[in-house]
Amino acid sequence: MAVLKDRLFMNLLEEEQGPQNKITVVGVGAVGMVCAIGILMKDLADELALVDAMENKMKGEMLDLQHGSLFLKTPKIVSSKDYKVTENSKLVIITAGVRQQEGESRLSLVERNVNIFKVIIPNIVKYSPNCKLLIVSNPVDILSYVAWKISGFPPSRVIGSGCNLDSARFRYLMGEMLGVHPLSCHGWVLGEHGDSSVPVWSGVNVAGVSLKTLNPELGTDADQERWKEVHKQVVDSAYEVIKLKGYTSSAIGLSVVDLTESIIKNLRRTHPISTMIKGLYGIKDEVFLSVPCVLGGNGISDVVKVTLPPEEEIRLKKSADTLWAIQKDLQF
Ligand code: NAD
Repeated sequence: MAVLKDRLFMNLLEEEQGPQNKITVVGVGAVGMVCAIGILMKDLADELALVDAMENKMKGEMLDLQHGSLFLKTPKIVSSKDYKVTENSKLVIITAGVRQQEGESRLSLVERNVNIFKVIIPNIVKYSPNCKLLIVSNPVDILSYVAWKISGFPPSRVIGSGCNLDSARFRYLMGEMLGVHPLSCHGWVLGEHGDSSVPVWSGVNVAGVSLKTLNPELGTDADQERWKEVHKQVVDSAYEVIKLKGYTSSAIGLSVVDLTESIIKNLRRTHPISTMIKGLYGIKDEVFLSVPCVLGGNGISDVVKVTLPPEEEIRLKKSADTLWAIQKDLQF
């Protein structure tokens, strides 16, 4: 007896086409779910795969998203603990792992999250050997290095979300100071995502007009307007939000979705993201730090060679030394 579906349709074509723009999110916690929803809302994937160690939570999140399908244009949303579900991903976003507790630094998370990466990365490589890896878990610069080493991928395909968030926070605060939208406030925070990040005061501008030229004391202790505080607030932001709501998720998720868009649509926009920086600014170790990078369909294709004033270059080098001191003893 013909089933209703056969009565309804006359089939013309057996379709077996695989996904063209599959994205996987590993870790469906606070950060991973903002990433997932952002990717769906912006129609960036034709298949979204979710992976997490907590099976019930993962399945619940998947069902909840699937039930929203009427309002979305991503035809397939899947999840599993088995990494086979991630097969043929173009982009894999890693947000799995422990997060900071109140007052805890990002660097203190390193050993626990390295152990998690030892399981996740080989599985991702097995099923999507040509994907780009976008690392979000903290400490993001060190874990980008770890993911690069474990995966054996070229550095172009291992991207740390790095200072994309720090720079966004900087531009928001700058916008508040000047009364214009952050999109019109240009400023780059580079180096380590976190406590030793470096604001590039020489490059801060609105419509190409350098604020440092208008106020040569910008960013120094002598500055009457205390713009240095803006960077201090950037560094303190995560601690403040964690103290208030327990974790950060919205801004990081939105910033990751913006990076995802550059990759999936091959936009070749510049972003302050974490990449292997050995050889630049006199850095001799294999560390990942944020510099402006051109991001497109193949990952990071170019690094912008920013001319830094000597004091900013010294701070970047110090960031590299801090990270290397931790990295060199890691076992994986
Ligand atoms: P969360 O605790 O809400 O979620 C983490 C998820 O990872 C959980 O669902 C957990 O089950 C899962 N997980 C743990 N081990 C796993 C494994 N082996 N395999 C698969 N899944 C596993 O945490 P969160 O608030 O979403 O934060 C996630 C990570 O992102 C943390 O490391 C946090 O520090 C980091 N983070 C980074 C930035 C940034 O700017 N780079 C900003 C915010 C948070």
